[in-house]
Formats: sequence, C-alpha cells, structure tokens
Amino acid sequence: MSADSEITQEACIVTEIPGPKSLELHARRQAVVPRGAHSVLPVYIDRAHGSILVDVDGNQFVDMCAGIGVTTVGHTDEAVVAAAREQLGRFTHTAFGMNPYEPYVQLAEHLAKHAPGSTLEKPYKSFFMNSGAEAVENAVKISRRHTGRPGVAVLEQAYHGRTVLTSSMNYKAAPYAQGYGPRVGDIYKAPNSYPLRDGLSGEAAAARTIAYLEKVAGAEDLACLIVEPIQGEGGFIVPADGYLSALLNWCRENGIVFVADEVQAGIARSGKVFASEHFGIEPDILLTAKTIAGGLPLSGVTGRPEIMDSPVPGGLAGTFAGNPVSCAAAVAVFERIENDGLVERAQHIERVFGAALRELATKHPRIVEVRGRGAMLAIELADPDTLDPDGDLVKRVIDRATQQGVLLLSAGAYGHVIRFLPSLQLTDDLIATVVSVLDDALTAEGA
Ligand SMILES: *Cc1c(COP(=O)(O)O)cnc(C)c1O
Repeated sequence: MSADSEITQEACIVTEIPGPKSLELHARRQAVVPRGAHSVLPVYIDRAHGSILVDVDGNQFVDMCAGIGVTTVGHTDEAVVAAAREQLGRFTHTAFGMNPYEPYVQLAEHLAKHAPGSTLEKPYKSFFMNSGAEAVENAVKISRRHTGRPGVAVLEQAYHGRTVLTSSMNYKAAPYAQGYGPRVGDIYKAPNSYPLRDGLSGEAAAARTIAYLEKVAGAEDLACLIVEPIQGEGGFIVPADGYLSALLNWCRENGIVFVADEVQAGIARSGKVFASEHFGIEPDILLTAKTIAGGLPLSGVTGRPEIMDSPVPGGLAGTFAGNPVSCAAAVAVFERIENDGLVERAQHIERVFGAALRELATKHPRIVEVRGRGAMLAIELADPDTLDPDGDLVKRVIDRATQQGVLLLSAGAYGHVIRFLPSLQLTDDLIATVVSVLDDALTAEGA
C-alpha cells in the first residue's frame, strides 16, 4: 500500500484558505509565470488519493472537479499508478512514428471493443495524440481529407480547446479567441438543443440546427459536424431526445462526417463508456482525452476505418503523441472499467447524488435545473421567474464551499452553472458532505 492511499476520504481544513505555504508559492509563481496561465484557486497541491486533494498546508479538500474531469478513476489509483510505473521502468519514449510498442495497440483494441460502432463488421481504428484540442484538430484534418470539403460545423455553447483552430470553434470569444485573431475561417456555429432555455423537442431543435447550417454553410461545403453529446464547458447541457440522431441522419444523407467530441463526457464518466450510447448514436469519429489515461496526458481519435484511413502514412502524428506511459495507464483505466464496475459506479453516483441535488432544488428556487448523466451532473442557477443566469451567485457559492473544503467548478456561457465531475471513487459519505456544504452555502446566499 502506498502512502497516498492513507489519505482519509474526508474534508479537513486546518488553515486559512489559501494557507501560508500556498500564498508563499503563489508569490513565487507570479514572478515567473504569466497571468494567462491562470489558476482559479491558488491552493497548491501536495498529494492526492481517491476524491481528496491535500494541499501544501495540510488542508484536505473533496475534489468535485477531478482536474476538470481527468482523474475520473480516482487520484493515484493503484492500478493506474502500477501500470505507469511499470512502463516508466521499461522505456518512456521511442516516438510511435519511429518505433512502435504494444500499449498503444492494446489501447486501440480497447477503444475498438467499446466504441458504439462495434456492431459494424470492421472495427473502429484509433490513433493517439496528447490533448483534447489536438484530437479535435485531427478530426478536422481527417474529415477534410475524407470529404475533400472545407467547412466545419459546431454548436452554440460548444468548447473544443485553445489552439488557434479550436479556439475559433468555441462558442465563447473571451477568453479563448478574442484578441488572438485572425480566427480560422469556414467554421459555422449552429443553434444547439438546450431544453431548459429553448423548450424545443429534439426533432424541432435538430430542424433548427439543420436549417441554419443549410442556409449559412451549405451542406455540400461541410466536411464535418462536431458535437459534444453532453456539452461540457457549456454547462452539462443534455440535448432533447432525438436531437443527436436527427443530426447524425442528416450528416449521413449529406456525406458530412459526424464527430462526437467526448473529451469531457467519454470513458465511463457519464455512466456509459461513451456518452453517445445514451442517445443511441454511432458517430463516425469519437474523440477522447480527459479521463482516458487516469491523469496522464493522452487523447484518442477513434473512427470508422474507411474514414480514418484517408490520410496518407505520416499524416497523423506528433513527437510525443501516444506516449507509452500514458498508453499503459489508459490500458489500466480500461481494465478497471471492464473488471471493477466503473461504469456502474458512475450510475450509482447519478442515483445518489442526483437525487440529493433534486432534493436541494426543492428548497432553493434559484436552482432552476438539475441535469446530467452519471458522474457528470450540474445545477443551473438563475432567477426562477425570468431564468436570468446568475453567475455571481455561482461564484459566491463556490467560494463558500472552498472555505468548507469542497472544490467546485463553474460552467456555462455566463458562469451560471455548477458542474460536478467527481472521481468515481466518491463515497456516499462524501456525497453527503458536498450536499450539506452546498445547502449551507445556498442558504447563506438566500438562494
Ligand atoms: C477539455 C475539452 C477539450 C480540450 O481538451 P484539452 O486537453 O484541454 O486540449 C476539447 N473538447 C472538450 C469537449 C473538452 O471538454
């Protein structure tokens, strides 16, 4: 047993937040790190296990963010740490483009087995990059190569990354694209499905999306439509039933590659291995990153072989892409999914935590919606009469929760959503802690 696993799974605040050692580190950091590389909370972390982060001052926090949905399997998960350590001792890098290795192939096999398209005769193929944004960039490249068309369709409220291409694809200009122009052209941002705010059925919302794209882009100029099955940064927006399948059908009829950006929702997070499964769709390309390697940097591009094979040899790669330590860790994540019921853990969290959040919503009218799937739940805070988003309230609630040892993350175009992305090791006791801290914070704010 490692020292990390001796971290008790409970919140424990022993200093002011941030504590003195964090403040000292923060002063050093400000001298040498630019402000653009911002940290929401200047609390410096010393170690972590399961759902708990321990800072340099000895405070313990319940981590409801998991590094933005990355350590879904849990911090310092024994199986992931063991697999990574083992690979570290063998070799750390050869460049897959120079000398290949088994963990990369094993991981592609796992993705082929679990992809929603596994009913097809030919398995999906995968290759690996380092970040979610790189996965999105490569999906655009492959779709353009496959179709010979330039256009990229995305949805309102979407988030796809911070490279020059992907920041041009995001819904929000600031802080991602504004000031870094010119932005990339031939990107079309269509209305999405946001049931709380548009009141549309899936069919009606899809008709609106499609009408927009046909008018503004022209279907025959579109290489791909890239959608998050459950929008992440946008505020865990779950589309109305039938919305995604209608879009997929339209893409198939028009030769447009349908790309599911599952960087945030994928790999057991939503209570299915892929969030696309909730909507009964088999995307042409599936993108994964955040959760996939249990905390190590890695992203995956997985898709139908006839599309994935359109780039020529050497067209898809990068020096560090598909790092062997990251691949070994990701194989361990899949073994945990297959053998240790991680998907069921996510469903359990949805049942227990989701019910508790709905109960909270009956007490606090400014919670206008509880939504999400699996261990990807959110509350939207707004004026109950006008639905005016209340981002300031979210900030104050997050602040109060932090002081009580619960780390929360905002989302939404107006920062008016609190999204919960806990590790799947979150215990029922910790759920009770989080709910009671939220309840107190909302009460103190008169919400
Ligand atoms: C985080 C995220 C990305 C970008 O991933 P990075 O690893 O930060 O580049 C892309 N798409 C979605 C849906 C994301 O949540």
